[in-house]
Formats: sequence, C-alpha cells, structure tokens
Amino acid sequence: MSIAREGVLFIKILKMELGNREKRILTDELYDAENDCLKEEALSPHFLLFLNPIPKIDPNQKVVTLLLTTECNAGCAYCYAGNYGKKQMNFETAKMAIDTAFSDFPGRVNFVFFGAGEPTTEIELIGEILDHLEYNYKGKYVADLMTNGMFSETAYETIMRMDSVCISHDGLPAIQDKIRPLKGGQKSSDLVSRNIRHFLNRKPVSIRMTVTGLSIGRLKEAVDYFFGLGVKNISMSPFFTTEKSKKNNVLPVDEKEFVDNFLDAKKYGEELGMNIASEYLPIKPRPSFCGFEQPMSVITPGGFLSACWEWCEVGEGSEFVYGKIGQKANPILEKIKRRTPENLEECDKCFLRFTCAGGCAARHYEKTGDLMNLDQERCELMRYAVKKYLLSIARKYKDEAENK
Ligand code: SF4
Ligand code: SF4
Repeated sequence: MSIAREGVLFIKILKMELGNREKRILTDELYDAENDCLKEEALSPHFLLFLNPIPKIDPNQKVVTLLLTTECNAGCAYCYAGNYGKKQMNFETAKMAIDTAFSDFPGRVNFVFFGAGEPTTEIELIGEILDHLEYNYKGKYVADLMTNGMFSETAYETIMRMDSVCISHDGLPAIQDKIRPLKGGQKSSDLVSRNIRHFLNRKPVSIRMTVTGLSIGRLKEAVDYFFGLGVKNISMSPFFTTEKSKKNNVLPVDEKEFVDNFLDAKKYGEELGMNIASEYLPIKPRPSFCGFEQPMSVITPGGFLSACWEWCEVGEGSEFVYGKIGQKANPILEKIKRRTPENLEECDKCFLRFTCAGGCAARHYEKTGDLMNLDQERCELMRYAVKKYLLSIARKYKDEAENK
C-alpha cells in the first residue's frame, strides 16, 4: 500500500475519531475526496503533525552533557568507547563548563551526567558537581544520569539527587550477563535489576536496551521482563559493529529485522501500558534530531567541546570536536552548524522532515564520510518504520471504529 493510500485511510479514520482541534488541523485541503486520495501537500510533514505542532528550539533551555570519564566497570562485548585511553574529568573542568553554561544565560540548563565510560565510577566528583550546582544555581538546572546501572548502594544517596536516571540493560538476564558483564566477566543482571527496582519508585527511570543478534528474536520476552520489574519506558536500538564487537563475535542485527521486531514489541508493550521508543521510529515532531547542529555541548573529560555523545576522543582534529571550554571555537563549528534539516536537500523533500529532522549525524557520517550526505539505506528504513507504524495505528482506529 502506498503512503498516499495509508494516508487516506488514516485521515478518514482520524476524521471519525478526533476532536475539533485535530479536525481543524487536519483540514480537507489535505484530502481529495473526489479522487479519494491525498493531495500532494498531504505527503508533507503535516501528515505526521496533525496532533502535535512542531516545537521550536527553546531559547530558555540548553543541554550540557558532561562526559566524566573513559573508565568503565563493565566489559560490554560491543563497547565503542574502548580506545580512548584513561581520562577523567577534574572538578575544575566541570565547574568551568557549568559556569560557562550559565554565563549570560538566564534560562534553565539540563546537565546530563554521562561518560565514554561509566559516570558512577566518579561518584564523588558527581557529588561535588551537584554541590556546586545546588549552591550556585538552585532552581535553574535539571540533572539527569545515564548509567550502566552497575553501582553499589553507596552511590544511592548521590544518585537520588538526580532528576532522572536512564539505565542501560539488554533485556533478559542471560543476555545481559553475556553481553554486558562486569569488567571481570562476572554476571551483572542481578545488580542492575536491583538498582532499577530501587530507583523506580523514587525517580523517573528509563531503560536503554541495545539489541544484538542474541536478543533480536526475543524483544517481547524482554518487554515482559522489564514489565515485571515495573519499568514503563524503554528505548531500543540495534548495536552497531565496533572493533570490540568483531573481536567478541557479537552477532550482527539486520536493521530491517530490528524495525519489524521492534514494532511488534512496541505494540505488545503498549498493550501493557508501556512506552517503547526507538531512534528508528521518529514520530514526535522536533526541530532537530538530537540538537547536534545547535550545536550540542558535550564536554569531554579533557574539557573539549563535542557536538555528539559518541565523538568524545579528546583533542582537536576529531571531526565533531569544535573547541575547548573557555577558548575560541575552531572552524569545525561552522561545518556542524550548517548541518540543519533545511540545508540537507533530501530532508526538505522527505515526509519525516520535522520528526527525523536530519537524522543522527554520527550514523550518516560513518557511512558517507561527509557531514552533508545521508545514508540512503538508513533514511529508507526510517521511512519504512514510520509508514508501517502509521498503518498499524490506522488499522487499530478502523477496528475500534467498526466495533463500536
Ligand atoms: S535524514 Fe533521511 S529520513 Fe531523516 S528527514 Fe532527512 S531524508 Fe528523511
Ligand atoms: S549525532 Fe547521533 S550519536 Fe551523536 S548525539 Fe546525536 S543522535 Fe547521538
């Protein structure tokens, strides 16, 4: 079925189901009743945006990610961060990043504590940074933690000071233990699941699940497992091949198979009241995929500024590293800022223009070697995922409407 056909069905059903506000947005201008098809302009982003207006970049909010360390207490079979050497952020660097973020900025800053390793191995530093924030910028910041969940109870008090916690866990315990063991090879699932349970009733907790060849056929089982823990929010992504994953013979994942299985797992999870997302299903309107080109402020352990969480090699000359805190940005910044959805010709014609919004710069760059080029296969896959998802929603509406 073509996207136009899906669109007609979807719009007809939505017209039956929606309230006045949505009907106003979803006007007949998009639907050619005489020929029972969508007008060309309906294949524009409006198609996806009838429920949500496009959010603008909020000038009163910014995100600063602190990559505290390259040290890690885990031995993940597919780790991408293994080649950075041992680097730790010191308090002075973190303080300078924070003070710079607030200088001349009256808004709210969202600090993400992350690492090219595991941030909780630097739990004392996290405590010091939070002290500095609380003392100097109380009420003006949000603190979020991205962790592998492999921390002891002694870290609980500091982590309780975060606004939210995102924990990586690869699903079924046997898979987690095999793919994401502790550094010494010991099983990690009991520890991580205990920590998920501990924080679930105390903080907003979400799960980041990386899908490998071992788990691709078992996503619904993983959803069941997380449901049993009490988890409500999961984000799933396939792993991408790294030197380490090749060495460890981690079974690769066919991306289309991932999308199909993910959509099944999402539907299943939604029936259980869970929210299951993936970067492969961009359905929420946004002005930018991740903020890459704004640019993102990702502070590496050595105080360099990167536009991407994954490009944290310390030192200028790295493709996405545009300077150092407190110093003038280098010319790479201009290249980064140019990579907007408006400047990517193909995005302008794509119906995901306002939801995918240029896609993940790192993934496209890895394939094409050019910041302004797109990996066509990846784009096709995103479009396939969204079309398939919309069609399933349209069918659901239709079934519900018919059974009334
Ligand atoms: S990156 Fe590809 S899928 Fe995303 S909006 Fe641009 S053209 Fe569409
Ligand atoms: S460019 Fe891609 S990998 Fe980098 S932060 Fe954005 S979404 Fe993540």
